[in-house]
Amino acid sequence: MANGSHDLNKEAAEKVLAQISEQEVTEFLQGLVRIPSVNPPGDVRDGMKYCADKLAAEGLEIEYVTQEEEKPNLLATLSNGEGPTLLFNAHIDVVPTGDENNWTYPPFGAELVNGRVYGRGAGDDKASVTAQVMAAVALARSGVPIQGKLIVNEVADEEVGGAAGAQLCAQDPRVEPDFVIVGEQTLNRVCLGEKGGAGCNVTVYGRAAHGALPWEGVNAIDGMGKIIVALQNELQPKLAERTHPLFKPSSSTVSLISGGVKANVVPDMCQIYVDRRIVPGETPDAVREEIREIAEKAIAGVEGLRVEVELGPMGGREAHHCDPDDPLPQAMLKANEYLGFNTEPTGFSMGTDGRHFVAQGYPAIVYGPGDPALAHQPDEWVGVDEVVDATKAYALAAVSLLASK
Ligand SMILES: [Zn+2]
Repeated sequence: MANGSHDLNKEAAEKVLAQISEQEVTEFLQGLVRIPSVNPPGDVRDGMKYCADKLAAEGLEIEYVTQEEEKPNLLATLSNGEGPTLLFNAHIDVVPTGDENNWTYPPFGAELVNGRVYGRGAGDDKASVTAQVMAAVALARSGVPIQGKLIVNEVADEEVGGAAGAQLCAQDPRVEPDFVIVGEQTLNRVCLGEKGGAGCNVTVYGRAAHGALPWEGVNAIDGMGKIIVALQNELQPKLAERTHPLFKPSSSTVSLISGGVKANVVPDMCQIYVDRRIVPGETPDAVREEIREIAEKAIAGVEGLRVEVELGPMGGREAHHCDPDDPLPQAMLKANEYLGFNTEPTGFSMGTDGRHFVAQGYPAIVYGPGDPALAHQPDEWVGVDEVVDATKAYALAAVSLLASK
């Protein structure tokens, strides 16, 4: 782990760590979980103000990036002189609770049970928001001098794509980060990047007819059946072999289906959405072509059927990751090393707001408390210890990257 310019100054590190209190971190997280910020509709104003007030009290400068009134995005800045800009990013919006009867603990109660805080967003992503805010608070309180800027960028809109959230922030001229740390559930492991996505809409067209006279039509749903089977038999085995050391293998799953007109009509159309997650080396265009070839072959024997394959509404994005020797991952890895946490870099197999920063040319890694397998579930929870650990690690990464030498 050699990178002379970003060695961690032990004295500064200890000063910052001394400012982190488990009780204060826990109470901040509970307060944030108790402010619902369900998306849709995605109104995060109260949660955003809660974070801004905490940071303003420590002297950070507060600004917002806002396109939609209910979706302000926070830029809370701690700055001193010339130097690099480190940006912490995490999201305040949460997915809906689903049926609340499936929850043991009320989804906005933030109950603390056996060292865990329960609630919608406890892990995804209010644990990361909390750790980032509290890391900035600790750095500000410690009096450790920095050179450069720390921007705490808590955002709206992540759960629906980030157009009014991180994407907007990444394009804002006030935000030109040298380093971006995106908080999502990585179990406090250092993720060098994330998988890409190339979901496709596959649409089969046939010919309608009276349901009593099916031979007069061409059944689009039957055609789609052949395509789904072909994707299982021909695409899945190939994807299992497309591996990468940082990520889970390339994957495909049919996640939506629609079609048909009426109970007594031969359907003239059927559509599926194929959720494709891709590893480095795969491109969205090649993914679309691969699906198109399999689909066309699957229905080639049925006259009157045709198929179209298009990338989904969000288009596609390639996987991205930085080099483990780059200064940003080095700072995070050194923080984990200092604290006795995992120092093996890995990758994130879900999509994050990091992609919006990478699209603008800024390096981004993913790091945060919580287990991704618990996200979006009833009884979502996060361990208080994990959140405190992440607070410490974020704070030390900031010390490495910003503290004056
Ligand atoms: Zn999230």
